[in-house]
Amino acid sequence: MFQTTAELRSAFLKYFENNGHQVVDSSSLVPHNDPTLLFTNAGMNQFKETFLGMEKRNYSRATTSQRCVRAGGKHNDLDNVGYTARHHTFFEMLGNFSFGDYFKEEAITFAWNFLTQTLKLPTEKLCVTIYETDDEAFDIWNKKIGVAAENIIRIGDNKGAAYASDNFWQMGDTGPCGPCSEIFYDHGEHIWGGRPGTPEEDGDRFIEIWNIVFMQYNRQADGEMKPLPKPSVDTGMGIERIAAIMQGVHSNYEIDIFQKLIAKTAEIINVSDLENKSLRVIADHIRSCAFLIADGVMPSNEGRGYVLRRIIRRAVRHGNKLGATDSFFYKLVPTLIDVMGDAAKGLVVMQDIVEKSLKAEEEQFARTLERGLQILDAALNDLKTDTLDGETVFKLYDTYGFPVDLTADVCRERDINVDEAGFDVAMAAQRSRAQAAGNFGTDYNASLIIDTDTQFCGYSHLTGEAVVSGLYVD
Ligand code: ATP
Ligand code: MG
Ligand code: MG
Ligand code: MG
Repeated sequence: MFQTTAELRSAFLKYFENNGHQVVDSSSLVPHNDPTLLFTNAGMNQFKETFLGMEKRNYSRATTSQRCVRAGGKHNDLDNVGYTARHHTFFEMLGNFSFGDYFKEEAITFAWNFLTQTLKLPTEKLCVTIYETDDEAFDIWNKKIGVAAENIIRIGDNKGAAYASDNFWQMGDTGPCGPCSEIFYDHGEHIWGGRPGTPEEDGDRFIEIWNIVFMQYNRQADGEMKPLPKPSVDTGMGIERIAAIMQGVHSNYEIDIFQKLIAKTAEIINVSDLENKSLRVIADHIRSCAFLIADGVMPSNEGRGYVLRRIIRRAVRHGNKLGATDSFFYKLVPTLIDVMGDAAKGLVVMQDIVEKSLKAEEEQFARTLERGLQILDAALNDLKTDTLDGETVFKLYDTYGFPVDLTADVCRERDINVDEAGFDVAMAAQRSRAQAAGNFGTDYNASLIIDTDTQFCGYSHLTGEAVVSGLYVD
């Protein structure tokens, strides 16, 4: 049986290769030629131009295992890490693609057969969603595949609904998009959560495993939906989620890859409780950080490098919380290479640079972490309300290099809110002081993202004006 993550990766690619798909390598986490995208966030990114009909390839079917990072922009799961069973900042997306070749019926049939015949998942554990008006997809699921009508849930584009799911997939505000159909796995009634389309869907009982997107439109900046030259298919299944099912565990963090990373982290820091949430966060973050560096991103004060820096700092903070006294993060790289199998090829080549960059960043941050944490801790202990004032948040950021989301991370663990508006006021006051003093030397590019789901606002190096980075797609 296909059980390990490595076996699942090759089983998937083989299945689609046998069905006429070209196996294509994962592309870099840094999207080529796409200023609308922060990091590669889906398997379809490298084929965007092909879907749009602007780039011709000598195949019309492809399959990939694509490394993805969702830590900013339209798809941002940074704040979910450590809180859900199914989200990572870095994950591999298994996908099959049709460029004007097959469409709905074949796409649905391929996915269903892979899950129920190759992997032998019990059909009674599966339910599916479709776009609310997509009767064609309904008929394929119901009549051709034989899924009972009550297990086919219609979901719209979710304006004003009490739940979050959305069956109209888009990469960003512009680009290829279309209605989709998703397959969910029921992990059992002992786990909290409801079926998709209910207010409880965000629990982790019914976990989305596969999204099949029927690419039909190219969304323009003004919102107009232009039909694509030929209807196409883009699908994505998170390898960690299917591995969890195949390994008989509920959480992605219990699969082979994560168990080894968590055990190694616990060994290095000397922690005995393997269930500790911080271990999961660190095991998640080493993957995104190491692969981002291997793909050429370096920690810095702006753009992609700043997002990387924030993730590293988060990991270091969690290590500190577990009692780490020395640099630990970079020491996870050999284990990471070991567990990632074929997916680690690029990382092996860059191992030395990755380890050195992580170590340098960690050492640099460790010097200020301790002091910042003391100040934050004291402020939280003195707190009379459930909200930390913006002035303190700003001081931590400005004086101690604490990204605001790091402060927010600590506060969230203690059920405390962060006064974002107050922070903005403090930041604005600082900017006008700097301007009045003609002090253009201060680097406000190191600004922050509190609401990591909305646009990134940095501050221009020279003017102190807020700038919306083109790197973010929201
Ligand atoms: P969810 O609703 O669970 O956040 P999604 O709808 O945002 O998932 P898609 O954009 O449809 O996910 O991506 C396709 C597939 O990639 C998902 O069905 C899931 O298997 C996987 N996936 C998405 N986000 C993550 C993540 N942060 N970590 C691990 N796997 C993910
Ligand atoms: Mg999501
Ligand atoms: Mg979803
Ligand atoms: Mg989805």
